[in-house]
Amino acid sequence: MDSANPTGNGRHASGKAMPRCPLRPGDPCSLCVPGATGPHDCQTVRLVMEDPDLREMLREKQAAYRASTAA
Ligand code: SF4
Repeated sequence: MDSANPTGNGRHASGKAMPRCPLRPGDPCSLCVPGATGPHDCQTVRLVMEDPDLREMLREKQAAYRASTAA
């Protein structure tokens, strides 16, 4: 069990389903950005998606993650 998933069952301690963080492939959203209630209103996700260079870096990171988890 880790601090991002305190209940270990894919849910926040509140019982709400825990979506994945788009910026950290494989990790659940830990609500690390103040004010965010999930990836849908996370300002960091918004900033990354609005910047072409950061978006490209994210694509590379996601591809590396997929390659590392491929069977
Ligand atoms: S708050 Fe944003 S950056 Fe933090 S884990 Fe959730 S989606 Fe990712």
